[in-house]
Order: sequence, then C-alpha cells, then structure tokens
Amino acid sequence: MSNPASPMVDWSDWRPTIDALRREFPILDRKVHGDKPLIYLDNAATAQKPKAVLEVLNRFYTESNANVHRGIHCLAEEATEAYEASRKTVASWLGAPSEKAIVFTRGTTEAINLVAHGWGNKFLKPGDRILVTEMEHHSNLIPWQMLARRTGAVLDWIPVTGDGVLDLSRLDEQLASTRMVSLTHMSNVLGTVNPVRDVVARAHAHGALVLVDAAQSAPHSLVDLNELDCDFLAFSGHKLMGPTGVGVLYGRPELLEAMDPFLGGGEMISKVTWQDATWADIPYKFEAGTPPIAEVIGLGAAVRFLQSLDWKVFHAYSDALTRYAIAQLESIDGLVVHGKAPDRGGAISFSIRDLHPHDLAHFLDQDGLAIRAGHMCAQPLIHQLGHSALTRASLYLYNLPEEVDALVRGILRVKEFFHRVLG
Ligand code: PMP
Repeated sequence: MSNPASPMVDWSDWRPTIDALRREFPILDRKVHGDKPLIYLDNAATAQKPKAVLEVLNRFYTESNANVHRGIHCLAEEATEAYEASRKTVASWLGAPSEKAIVFTRGTTEAINLVAHGWGNKFLKPGDRILVTEMEHHSNLIPWQMLARRTGAVLDWIPVTGDGVLDLSRLDEQLASTRMVSLTHMSNVLGTVNPVRDVVARAHAHGALVLVDAAQSAPHSLVDLNELDCDFLAFSGHKLMGPTGVGVLYGRPELLEAMDPFLGGGEMISKVTWQDATWADIPYKFEAGTPPIAEVIGLGAAVRFLQSLDWKVFHAYSDALTRYAIAQLESIDGLVVHGKAPDRGGAISFSIRDLHPHDLAHFLDQDGLAIRAGHMCAQPLIHQLGHSALTRASLYLYNLPEEVDALVRGILRVKEFFHRVLG
C-alpha cells in the first residue's frame, strides 16, 4: 500500500463496487442515537461482518452444531469437515506449505503467547535477545516481557523515527545474539507498513526467527508467506470480517514440531497415563479443549469473502481514501496526524491542540461517528509521540469519502463548541 500525494480524486469509477460491497453489511444501514446514520470508522479495532459470514454462523448453529474430532455421528462429521475446511482455506490463502502449519487460536494475542510459551520457554537462555519494535501493540510486547522475566532473556526494540517508520540503521548490531524478532506488519496507531521481508532476510542471516503480527495487515490481504518468508505469523478473525474469539498462528512445521504445547487438555494428546502424556501431531498439539468451532467456520467464510474481492481495485481505493482522509484532516487548524510513512494503511491517529481525544470521541459519537480514543494498546509508542492518548479514525474497504467529510465536519463542530465554551 503506497500513497502518492494527491487528494483530488474522482470516486465515480469505484462507486458501484463500493456500494455493492456495502450492501453485504447489514449493520452499515444502522442508525444510532435515534436517527443518526452510523459512520463506522473504528475498523482497526474490529471490522463489520458481511452476510456471507453471518449466514455461515447461523447455518452452523441451526443445522450442524456438534463438537469436532470426537463424535461418530452425522453432525459431528459435518462440523469436523467444515472446521477442517477452514484450515485448508486459511492455508491456501496465506500460501502455507501445509495445513499442519495452521493452528487455530482465540486471536492474535493468544497466538503470540503460544509462541512465547511453546518456543520461548523451551529454547531461550539467559542473555538471549528478543527484538520487538517501538510501534508494537501490547499483544506483541507483554508476552515477550513476561518471557524475558521467565528466562532471563533480554528485551530490545527497534526505534521508530519521527515520521513513524522503523529506524533500521542499527539492525545488524541489534540482531547479534537475537533469537527472536517479533514485529508488526502494519501499525495499528501509525498505519505504517513495515518492510518485513527485509527484516526477515537480515534476521535469518543472523540465525534469528521472525514472528509477524499481521493483525492489521491480513484484513487488507497483504499477507503472502512466500513473499514474507517469516517463521511465525499471527492474526485475528474479527479484524478481517470474521467472528471474534478466533485467530490463526502460522508456524513453520518443523518449528511447531519442536515446540512444547501451550495449553494442556483434551484433544491435544496422543497417549495419557496417570503420570504422563504424549502429544498429538501438529497442529492439534496446540488446540487443547473444544475449539471455537463456529468461529473457525465463520473465519473460513470471511477468508473466502476476502478472496472473492478484486484487490487491485480495493488496494487502489483504500490508498486513495487514506490519502484523502489524511489531507482533509490535516486541513483542520491545530490537528496533527501522527505517522508519515510512505507505505501505510488506513489507521490514522491524530491529536488536536487543546482538545482531549475522549471529549472528541464522545461528541462525535452523538453524530453517529464511531472512532477510537485512548492509548490504542500501544502506551510506549503513544508516550514516545508525546501524548497519553490519541484519536484514531481507521478506514476499511466499505468506507466512503463522504464519511471522511462527515468526520471532518464533526471535528470542526466540536472544536467550535469547545472554543465557544472555554473561550
Ligand atoms: N496486534 C495489533 C497490531 C493489533 O492491532 C491488535 C488488535 N488491536 C492485536 C495485535 C491484538 O489482537 P486481538 O485483540 O484480536 O488478539
């Protein structure tokens, strides 16, 4: 995703495609606070769900609900077949070498914790380095902090420049004694798309593994394992139009084989005695207990929905809409957009002089505008930017330029109100 600068865009060629897409999302017709049409600009937190996903969830519970991998009856077989079909869908979508490389988790957070425990507890020694970046979501920071405390490993980070891009000038130095690099593909605060392939090549040259947090990039269909060449990759279903409570960990099969399980319980075992147990093959070794069955099946439907889209069109549209939104927002006096990466997605965080993000979000909500205010689960980065909270508008494929215009009008109204009241 790149954004050459020019906000003057003729939207008419895109309009029929975007209008058709919007019709797939019943929630976009909602009114809030009485008669205010919903303008949903909180997509980096979670995306809305198309009918294709809603119908699959409804059909599963209406017709095929049963536990998986256990029952020898018709419904159990249907449920297992649909659950495993989702694994195939996800594996082929990502370009994974094998379905065995796809572990279903409860989300990105659980996937990263799984690696920190299953790989980190077993293989890290005191003094080994774990390298993250200054733009990580807490999901990709706290599990490594905890691992460092458990093992005596050292946590280090790649700095972020004033423009919101990674400063890789010291990377080779930092990679000495690094065993794991864990970085986000796309920042949920700055929108920056990181040069993951370059980092992976340099990390591998130093013998380090790389985990990619694709929570924000997978929804924009930017994940191709053959291109990224990473060792682990994690994402959540709910940000790519699938259900909450489900996510994916991709791991190189030989690494997953070597790792210890994360959670113990039913279905992840091979043989059990009172004193001991052996593990099931991958990926089942990592899927203890009853998994989020309907959610996995819904995730499969969401991925098929993503696969059905013409990404040449949607990438061009998303880039244009992001550029337009940034230009319109920056035209507001006192507003600063944080993050100037040339390669970026539509998570746009900003601050406005003399206006607290929570006040702004509260007032915009009265106009039907759903945006995010706070630290966006990235406190170290937000503090580094000199703030304790920011406001974020995050765009997805179904957003419209007039929704951006409504946001800008809304911000101007709130500014004007506070100016009048506070003088
Ligand atoms: N990483 C990034 C970059 C994110 O944006 C998020 C969600 N905001 C997460 C990780 C965590 O995802 P989840 O809460 O679905 O586990």
